[in-house]
Formats: sequence, structure tokens, C-alpha cells
Amino acid sequence: MTPQLTWIEIDLAALKSNCRFLRSRAGEKTELLAVVKSEAYGHGMEEVACCLHDEGIRAFGVSAVSEGVRLRRKGISGLIVVFLWGGRDLLADVVEHDLQPVVFAKEQLLQISEAAVCGGSKIGVHIKVDTGMGRLGMLPDELPAFLHLVTETPGVYPAGIMSHPPLADGESTQFAEDQNQLFKSILDAVCGDEDSVPLAHIANSAALLRFPDMHWDMVRPGIAIYGCRPLAGGLFADAELAPVMSFKTRVLQVKDVPVGFGVSYGHTFTTSRPSRLAVLPVGYSNGYSRSLSNRVDVLLHGRRAPQVGRICMNVTVVDVTDLEQVRAGDEVVLMGRQGDEEISVDEIAALMGTINYEVVCLLGNNNPRIYIN
Ligand SMILES: *Cc1c(COP(=O)(O)O)cnc(C)c1O
Repeated sequence: MTPQLTWIEIDLAALKSNCRFLRSRAGEKTELLAVVKSEAYGHGMEEVACCLHDEGIRAFGVSAVSEGVRLRRKGISGLIVVFLWGGRDLLADVVEHDLQPVVFAKEQLLQISEAAVCGGSKIGVHIKVDTGMGRLGMLPDELPAFLHLVTETPGVYPAGIMSHPPLADGESTQFAEDQNQLFKSILDAVCGDEDSVPLAHIANSAALLRFPDMHWDMVRPGIAIYGCRPLAGGLFADAELAPVMSFKTRVLQVKDVPVGFGVSYGHTFTTSRPSRLAVLPVGYSNGYSRSLSNRVDVLLHGRRAPQVGRICMNVTVVDVTDLEQVRAGDEVVLMGRQGDEEISVDEIAALMGTINYEVVCLLGNNNPRIYIN
């Protein structure tokens, strides 16, 4: 029996198979950078990175310098790109562990240069250009001068020119296509006939799956590695992606109650028949959102049972009147598969009014993880 009351199960075989599928989509000429920021979207950064490293992945994307350092300490070799600028104090770590920061401002570049020269090394930087994301990055017309500055500055070299698509999962493909044209034109303008051309990369999962023209030298999938489609609905239905995360608990108590019995805070549910209730040791402190109250199902003995009453901080009740065989200690699947039934990440996300990205981060980062396969 698992030692935890409530836990996340991470299926490493599914992770590997998603990785192989995405590599086949990316093709042989395109490097696959696995995005493992935010604890690998709740899946556990070190475990995921080591598993993908064993699969031959040699490029990783993190949001913080500290994450890059943790990867190096685990023996991860190859490219580690740090998406968010961490400030001057972290540059000694960047140099020591050969991390590649994303940059968009001169001050950043000069600070990296100083740290690299001081440490006697050369640091690759990825220049972020805002080609339509409307978030981080310099505007395209600033790129030529900036790239020139990078090549002139000691201790740094241009390892990449990157951008990010806001609408690769949109209904219309027009914006993404126009954006890619803009990206192409700025690359054409700066990457003439130099020897060492920086890696061009723009594609997230959606662009990788949907726009082969956006693959360039490297693709940066995150959510698809974890088996989720970037957008719910039919858009990526043909993608061979298997869910990696499941969320499980065990029945703590089973009891029979009469008709008219109020359940949990506020009595938002009252039994309409003599009922059997199962009490589960899981709640919103585990990321099982209170907004799911009276709306979500769980799986027990391969069948659906409705959750009833308010979800509390650590406790949740389900109605198992129609499932006679339920006993204390039985395994409950809150998200994932049991028998022929499945409660998908997308189902939970839709009920919460959010996207699968947020659900895996929330659940994965608030529960102990167990690795299988
Ligand atoms: C998070 C992130 C990605 C991955 O996006 P997905 O939609 O999860 O594939 C790619 N690139 C950058 C810069 C990111 O921050």
C-alpha cells in the first residue's frame, strides 16, 4: 500500500512515449528542448528531466536559475535555457553551471559579460524578440543592433534567437502564419552569412503539433510532453499523447445515512434517499479545488461516483450508494484511469473553468509524487 493518503502518480512510460512522438513530429533536423519549468508542470523536475535525458533529450527549458542548477547537480548535460531573468546575484551560478539565459536588454547582457569574463568562460544567450506575444522581449526593429552588441561583447555569444506564439492554438491559423513570416524576415535580416548562426526557435507544443513551418532549429514543447493537448477539443485529436499524471487517494470511511442527511459545510447537499457515503482524505489543500464541489465525479471500482457537499480543506465526500462493494482503504481515482473509465485532466479543467496546464501544476505541486513504469 502507498504510504501517502493522497498522491500523484507519474507514468514515466507515458512520458517517454510522448517524447518519442513529439520527436517524430519535430523531425531529425530539429532539436527538441523539453520545457521542465515549474517542477515540470507539477510532474517533478529532476525525475522528468532524468527520464528524458535517458531518452536522449539534450536541451531543457526552465524558468529560474535555481532550477538549472538543480538539473546540473542531477547530471543533466547539454543545453539548459533559463527563460526568466534572475538578476545579477545569480550570474555566478549561470557561469558555473553553464546555463543559457534569455535576454532582451543591454544591462542584462553587460552583467552576464562581466560575470563570464570574471569566471573565465563564455556564456550563450538567447535573444528574445516579441513578434506578437505582447509579453517579454524586444521589438523586432531592435534586434539587429542588439545582435551586433552581443557579438561585440566579451564573454557572451548569441546561442539563440527566440520568440513565442500567443495564438498557435487559436481557431484561426492566420495570426500564427503571419507571425512566423515576421520571425523569418527578422532572421533573414540578421543571419546573413556568418559562420555560427544562432538557433532559431519559436514553437511551443501547439506550434510544434500544428505548424511544421514554425519548427526552425529547435522546438520547445511543455504541455504535450505531459500528455495534454494544448487546447481542449478536437484540434489535436490525432496527436499520440498519453496522460502522464494521475491523482489518487483512498477511502477513509464508509457509512450509511438516512434520507434528508445534510453533507459537509453549509449542507449544500442533502440526501434524497437512504445513502451510502464514502469520505476521502483529500481537499483543496491538495489542489482539489473547492470550485469542484457537487460537480465532479471520482472513480471507484472502475465506476463513476458523484462527489457531494462542499469540498473541505482535507476532506471530501462521495455518494457511493450505487456501488455496494466500496470499503475503507479502497483506491479512488480523482483524475486518471480506473478500469474502462477515465476522468481526464481536461474534464477537471473544464469544471474548474481553467486549462489543463493549471490543473497539473496545482495538483502536481501540492501532493507527494510516486513514479511508476
Ligand atoms: C512554457 C513555455 C513553453 C512551453 O509551452 P507549452 O504550451 O507548454 O508547450 C515554451 N517556451 C517558453 C518560452 C515557455 O515559457
